[in-house]
Amino acid sequence: MGENKLKQYREKRHFDKTPEPKESNINLEENPIFVVQKHQSRRLHYDFRIETDGVLKSWAIPKGPSLKPGEKRLAVQVEDHPVDYASFEGVIPEGEYGAGQVIVWDKGNYRNVTIKSGKAISVGNALEAGHLALFLYGQKLKGEYGLIRMGQKSSKNWLLIKKQDEWANSKIDIVSKMTKSVLSGRSIEELM
Ligand code: MN
Repeated sequence: MGENKLKQYREKRHFDKTPEPKESNINLEENPIFVVQKHQSRRLHYDFRIETDGVLKSWAIPKGPSLKPGEKRLAVQVEDHPVDYASFEGVIPEGEYGAGQVIVWDKGNYRNVTIKSGKAISVGNALEAGHLALFLYGQKLKGEYGLIRMGQKSSKNWLLIKKQDEWANSKIDIVSKMTKSVLSGRSIEELM
């Protein structure tokens, strides 16, 4: 699984030049993970990734995720990444795809809580349908989020929206308040 799905990922990278991981697909999916990587490439963005079907489905969020209930954050779907990528932190060399600094801004498990017509549906089917409900168990992001595709099936533009629950918080701007890696405690500036 995941083999052909990662073709785009591999084609964009030179593994002799970048410290980014190749893939090994060792994770079982009983406790799928999510990760948010803060990535200072040409433009700062936050890569939101969820493990499913042997890969990390991925979206680039220019403004980063929010804790504010109902706040919509544009999330542009990008190519699937290998599951090992979830622990990647470091510098992608100049001239390589996505060149710049990466830290693991948040990481944890998630649960698919998508329900359609009263029935639980798989992540794969929810992605197809363009409507996903995720419960995140991160260090910074907790509780339920909706991920909703805008427009047609071919559209790469999705919205990440915090649901109203006990972890929602309208007062904190989480991306500016909490800037450090959950793995190393480093900020992106410390990698520059
Ligand atoms: Mn990125």
